[in-house]
Amino acid sequence: MSLEKPHWTELFNEVVTTGLCTGCAACVIACPHPVLDYDANNGVYKPFHLDVDGDASNCTHGDKGCTMCTRACPRFRNWESEIDTHRFARERSDDEVFGIGDVVLARAINADVIESGQDGAFVSALLIFALENDVIDAALVSGVAGDGTSWRAEARVARTREDVLATAGSRYTYSTNLLGYQSAVDEGAERIAVVGMGCMASAPGAMQARKAGKVARRLSLSIGLLCSKTFDDSIFEELFEAKYGIARADIKKMNIKGVFQIWTHDDQYYEVPLKEAHAFTREGCKACPDFAAEHADISAGGIGEFSDWTLVVVRTDLGRDLVTRMREAGVIETRPGDDDPGAIALMQKLARVSRRRWPEFAVDGPRRLPVTAS
Ligand SMILES: Cc1cc2nc3c(=O)[nH]c(=O)nc-3n(C[C@H](O)[C@H](O)[C@H](O)COP(=O)(O)OP(=O)(O)OC[C@H]3O[C@@H](n4cnc5c(N)ncnc54)[C@H](O)[C@@H]3O)c2cc1C
Ligand code: SF4
Ligand code: SF4
Repeated sequence: MSLEKPHWTELFNEVVTTGLCTGCAACVIACPHPVLDYDANNGVYKPFHLDVDGDASNCTHGDKGCTMCTRACPRFRNWESEIDTHRFARERSDDEVFGIGDVVLARAINADVIESGQDGAFVSALLIFALENDVIDAALVSGVAGDGTSWRAEARVARTREDVLATAGSRYTYSTNLLGYQSAVDEGAERIAVVGMGCMASAPGAMQARKAGKVARRLSLSIGLLCSKTFDDSIFEELFEAKYGIARADIKKMNIKGVFQIWTHDDQYYEVPLKEAHAFTREGCKACPDFAAEHADISAGGIGEFSDWTLVVVRTDLGRDLVTRMREAGVIETRPGDDDPGAIALMQKLARVSRRRWPEFAVDGPRRLPVTAS
């Protein structure tokens, strides 16, 4: 971080308005003054500055020396190498395209957890284990708005096994899970896990690397989800319903495995080619270079030959310790990542594709690729 004390003006000019902003809301939850808010309406997913203090691009607290928003932002300036260095005591080598860490395959053992999860229900098993073994007080996760049939993803706070199971599975629209932070703190949580795609999973690391105070300390566990993109909510009406006749309320489960897989409550199964979905890519994903949630303690994905297992990248000592303890406690089973070399090759390929999206005008680190990259 430079001596110039960059604040909202720099964040607004260099990230929010340039296409680098993912809409993760880390700046909003880190801001110690009531001047930043978040627009989740109509697919905007962006922070904004309230006019009561300064204007859209200026902040009087920033002029007086507050730098919290830029400390929190996982896309500000040299974010990737700053977070790598803080988390792993070194930068990624060019060959570590999906970040630093070891791959294993894992799945939950308890039937009710498996039933609720998207792939191997590893993430849900991890959250339940962390809540029930005094590792965390709460987790920032994603639920579905309304009666559960809307498929509108929204931030939720999970404090119990029941909360975790009720919010398991994947929604492919954006869910700003970090926005649950204040509610978790208001109810007394001091050790908080965040579940989110790379953009959100890098937020705790950014905050810790740049010393963003209490919020950095409280976000003590980061669980990342592999992610190429999220989709605009209009995909439900304008593609699934208009072309395939699938109403959102009829959808029971969705997954992406080379195609959009959709199961409906009347036991029908549909496949929607991903190329038809590309037009609905959320704006904030278009410049994102991080497929594999490279700054999480543990990243989880669904690619690979074994559809009822979760592909897991264990990245930090905390992540390694949790996986070992969960295995010993009999809540998960694991097998070596080498059992599915195709999954690792695909993760590398998809990570390379995402890295190419990082724009030329920004620092070049996230765009670096191995010399052997195809
Ligand atoms: C938008 C999105 C895109 C993804 N893309 C890929 C991909 O391209 N390749 C791949 O291998 N894997 C991808 N995944 C990850 C995959 O779908 C599973 O989340 C992962 O394999 C973990 O499975 P699980 O059974 O262990 O998780 P579960 O036990 O089912 O737990 C999933 C957790 O994710 C949270 N969650 C659900 N939806 C969202 C959301 N929209 N935003 C934030 N948190 C959410 C839930 O609240 C829950 O805590 C994606 C996930 C999401 C949400
Ligand atoms: S990327 Fe996240 S932290 Fe950075 S400006 Fe956008 S919403 Fe704020
Ligand atoms: S592609 Fe995924 S990780 Fe990247 S900004 Fe979009 S939601 Fe976040």
